[in-house]
Amino acid sequence: MVDWDPPSRDYEFLFNEVFDAVGSIEGLGFDDFDWDFLSMLMEGWGTHVKEVWLPINEIGDRKGLRFEDGKISMPEEFKDAYKRGVEEGWFATSSKPEHGGMGAPTLFQAVTWAEFGTSTCMSLSVLPALTTGVYEVLAEHGVSELVDYYAGNLATGEWAGTMCLTEPHAGTDLGIISTRADPNEDGTYRISGTKIFITYGEHDMTDNIVHLVLAKVPGGPEGTKGISLFLVPKYLPKQWGDGSLSEITHDLSDSVNGVSCSGSEEKMGLHASPTCVMNFDESVGWLVGPLHEGMPLMFEMMNRERLATGMMGLGLGEIAYQNALNWSKDRRQGRDLKGARSPNEAADNILVHPDVRRMLLESKVNNEGCRALAAWTGILLDQMRSDDPDVSEPAEGLVAMFTPIVKAHFTDLGCETASTCMQVMGGAGYCSEYGVEQFYRDVRISKIWEGTNGIQALDLAGRKVTQGFGRNLRYLMWPLTDFIEENRDDEEMAEFNRPLHQGARGLQQITLLMVGEGMADPHFLAAGATDYCRYFGNVLLAYMWARIAKICLKRKGEPFYDAKLASARFFFNRIFPETLGLAAKIQSGPGPMMEYPEAMF
Ligand SMILES: Cc1cc2nc3c(=O)[nH]c(=O)nc-3n(C[C@H](O)[C@H](O)[C@H](O)COP(=O)(O)OP(=O)(O)OC[C@H]3O[C@@H](n4cnc5c(N)ncnc54)[C@H](O)[C@@H]3O)c2cc1C
Repeated sequence: MVDWDPPSRDYEFLFNEVFDAVGSIEGLGFDDFDWDFLSMLMEGWGTHVKEVWLPINEIGDRKGLRFEDGKISMPEEFKDAYKRGVEEGWFATSSKPEHGGMGAPTLFQAVTWAEFGTSTCMSLSVLPALTTGVYEVLAEHGVSELVDYYAGNLATGEWAGTMCLTEPHAGTDLGIISTRADPNEDGTYRISGTKIFITYGEHDMTDNIVHLVLAKVPGGPEGTKGISLFLVPKYLPKQWGDGSLSEITHDLSDSVNGVSCSGSEEKMGLHASPTCVMNFDESVGWLVGPLHEGMPLMFEMMNRERLATGMMGLGLGEIAYQNALNWSKDRRQGRDLKGARSPNEAADNILVHPDVRRMLLESKVNNEGCRALAAWTGILLDQMRSDDPDVSEPAEGLVAMFTPIVKAHFTDLGCETASTCMQVMGGAGYCSEYGVEQFYRDVRISKIWEGTNGIQALDLAGRKVTQGFGRNLRYLMWPLTDFIEENRDDEEMAEFNRPLHQGARGLQQITLLMVGEGMADPHFLAAGATDYCRYFGNVLLAYMWARIAKICLKRKGEPFYDAKLASARFFFNRIFPETLGLAAKIQSGPGPMMEYPEAMF
């Protein structure tokens, strides 16, 4: 039987003691959100998903969804849970009050909401996560009639949203999509084409589904520069008349819009999350944002979804850890090599074995390090809105640079953690009854969608660190170097500060190597990108653990803080040294891959 408790104590520590979340977003329009309110939100959401989502996670995996005659029927339990979430306002926390939302800081929605939701039911959580993304793009870039009609229902989750990018021949390479948008005289467009792998493209959880579709208007520029973004609803407003949205009624009737679903994929995991083939047959669509500016707009949504995907890695890693830990306390096998710990029992529990402790600590320490980086990123997301460029510009630069790392490093670790936790449970871990194998199957997609982790690494190494002549990297290096300097003479901090210093110096050297060699030979940069992304992720987690250690050293003797110190020690001794191997791999360059004779693959 799977169990989970929200890691609220960890968030309380991070948001109050490590980052001063409330102070950091002061003056940014969140005056009603003091710590008491935020912690109440967190507690309420944790209780909601534990009571409503966790029990249906396994049901969704087992029952899956039903595809028949172009319609997808979701498990009744999912429909009930979703309806309750809408009624209780859980999908409207970060949307604007004028659209029926609560206007809470993004740090709640992007971090705590995302982690708790994905831990308890990833299949369900992706629906409101996508809808929020569609809402945000529309609210920011849609013309007022479009916003007036669609934003409210999307903000609350009464209608659902999707993102339609991928086509049978165009996955990573969106420049070659062939979905076309022909202009109508009334200002609307006729959208025609086939999209595949569309998450929640069709379902019966909401009355309407609003698709954001990438398409090309004939005669536009080649490649990604010719792509525009369109809003294409499943059902048209009843009286859309001349194409303006002014006369609409909320009676949707059956005015289908040429949008049909011709199948849903059978998948390794996420059995209750539809993955649809969607056909658009002269469907009426409205342009969102300027013509041919579809990619930058879709990237705004994708960047949010990339952070959300990173949180999936953490969410699944956390629930896998909690269940493996519970198991290890009860499971009795063998004896402590230094003598029996429970002599009255036939065997000790497996927690006495160093190797089991290694597996559990790798999982726990990586989860907690990622949570700290997520908390910081969440605060930065809100600071991006500041009118003060001294606040908003560094925040924007850091979020841009952290996004591929959160996406790739968190999901790599999430997959490793789910696998490691399965290992902790031995044969039981492999059996459905105990739940961890579902987490392992569900989390695996997170390395693939929203741009594969290989593509994230290329984005980091090839674009984000070089942007503005290294501006983003400087926004990180300034506070990081200050921290290292401030703690240089602190004896107690030496065990954390010294390796952090070496890692930070190593990151600068490796970055120079990647960028320098990469200019002469693009294969050099591409060959090292994945290792570089992991290296960078490790340095960021090292910075988080050193900051945590600094706080905890002042409260030695209190169990929570002592445990954090022990976790920091585990990180620097058992996880961080992998950067040495990563550096060696990067330095070996592209030769080992590119000189390999193609015919011999
Ligand atoms: C369950 C599921 C849900 C999804 N949901 C959505 C959705 O809601 N909306 C949507 O639009 N799409 C969705 N997708 C599609 C998903 O985003 C793509 O599968 C993903 O971006 C990868 O594209 P691809 O599958 O075509 O792989 P390919 O592009 O064919 O890539 C294959 C391999 O080649 C590598 N590769 C490709 N190009 C390069 C390059 N230039 N440099 C280095 N390596 C490269 C990739 O990293 C990968 O390892 C979903 C997919 C799945 C499986």
